[in-house]
Amino acid sequence: MQALDWTYLLAASGHLTLAVLSFLRGRRSAVALPLGLLCVTLFGWCFCSLAADLTGPSGAWWGQLDAFFSALTPPLILHVAVVFVGARRAHARIVAVGYVLFGALALSSVVGIGRPWGLAWVQNDRWQWAFLAGWLPVLFFVAALLLRHLVQSLDPDEKARTRTILAAFAVGGAVATADPIRALGYPVPHLAPIGSLAGTLLVATGVFRFRLLDRDLSITAAVYAGALAVSGVICYLAAFALLGGNVAALVFAMIAVTLGLGTAIYELTSSIATQRERVERLASLGRFSSQMAHDLKNPLASLKGALQFLDEERARGHALDAHADFVRLMMEQVERLGRVVDDYERIGRVEPIRRSVEVNELVQGVVRLEPFAAQGGVSVRAELADRLPPCDLDIDLMRGALENVIRNAFEAMPRGGDVVVRTALDGGNGADRVVISVEDTGEGMDARLAERAFEDFYTTKPRGTGLGLAFVRRVAQAHGGDVSLRSTLGRGTIVSMRLPVAARG
Ligand code: ADP
Ligand code: MG
Repeated sequence: MQALDWTYLLAASGHLTLAVLSFLRGRRSAVALPLGLLCVTLFGWCFCSLAADLTGPSGAWWGQLDAFFSALTPPLILHVAVVFVGARRAHARIVAVGYVLFGALALSSVVGIGRPWGLAWVQNDRWQWAFLAGWLPVLFFVAALLLRHLVQSLDPDEKARTRTILAAFAVGGAVATADPIRALGYPVPHLAPIGSLAGTLLVATGVFRFRLLDRDLSITAAVYAGALAVSGVICYLAAFALLGGNVAALVFAMIAVTLGLGTAIYELTSSIATQRERVERLASLGRFSSQMAHDLKNPLASLKGALQFLDEERARGHALDAHADFVRLMMEQVERLGRVVDDYERIGRVEPIRRSVEVNELVQGVVRLEPFAAQGGVSVRAELADRLPPCDLDIDLMRGALENVIRNAFEAMPRGGDVVVRTALDGGNGADRVVISVEDTGEGMDARLAERAFEDFYTTKPRGTGLGLAFVRRVAQAHGGDVSLRSTLGRGTIVSMRLPVAARG
């Protein structure tokens, strides 16, 4: 093996390690899945390049596998970039088109594997032109996305993270562009192994130093991932060295090693990541039910106390007529229990019982009580628009939703700050809407968190349920409105609920 082959080998192990690490983060991080798949693809590409290099003309079909992996990189790079800047929903269609087009190119590279015509196709200039025709637009689009994100981010950490990703992208982009151009016969240096290695190192910097995958990765996870990746690469190499001459046996062994490695990664991730997620989900369900238990216990305790007292009085032979107030108290507790049960039932279903409501009054009512819930150093005030039309709202649901948003604002400002609750009339798009927005000067969210904040059970707080914003969205939608969020890391967050005004007449 020459220096070039060692570089490929090192890059392949690096990519595989990063892939395992990404899969370990599982659902906790939005970039984890596309980044993991991208690393797997880069691993496949490095390994096939290495194998093609080592086998020479007899193993030309490695070149077809190489082409397969090359064709899959652009849509994955696009996917990672779109998720990274928090525009997964906005650009979902572009990403899908990328997968379809490049997926077709990838498939066309392997349908004729081992056949002369299949090999001729991936070595044909047309293949390279097809790749470049798809790749160049992706290149410019991703560069624009990342640069815009860099300019718009205010948080120094997010800026550093974006710069690292941009550098990795620049290196990867140079390789991905130079390779097909070289294949077309132009005198471009052979950058692929060095470039791929440098790209891997940059992504690793983003992951470890700048916490691309949220929170710090544990050393244990990194050791597991590294060990798994190195044993995987050794297995591939062993199969390659032992069976290199026998193509059928080699293919079989490679598939077996891939399946074995895939299973090991799956086992490891499901034992670490999925288990943790399940535990967290159960924990938040636990907190939810303990809140419910708490709400039911107080009235039940009062009921029991009153009943015991009446029972003792009767045992002593006293008449109960003198204790009519106890009976009234018990009646009240039973009614309170009924309301609690109703409330929980409605949280589950969110069926608004509407009546005409003055939004300003609703907001004032909530804001007036909030200073009691606020920690020191937090101020809450309302800025209300004049002459708002009334809305048809369920006042209890809306109050609950608004309280949730304000509580999040408090929790985002552990060192104090200002919360402003605004109301406004938005007459755009023909239909009038009343907007209630809550603005805080708290820690804000990065683009990836902001995209996921409304998901059920998604929380970054040790004692959070991740159900707050999900409930707010359900309430807004049940009223025919919607809710949106604008957040700047380190600056603060604005959550806006837009509600249709009551029909006139
Ligand atoms: P929870 O408050 O139980 O974590 P939510 O659904 O209310 O669940 O919020 C989900 C996540 O969104 C929070 O864990 C937090 O990371 C983020 N978040 C919500 N509101 C804000 C805010 N005003 N400022 C910063 N981050 C917020
Ligand atoms: Mg919350």
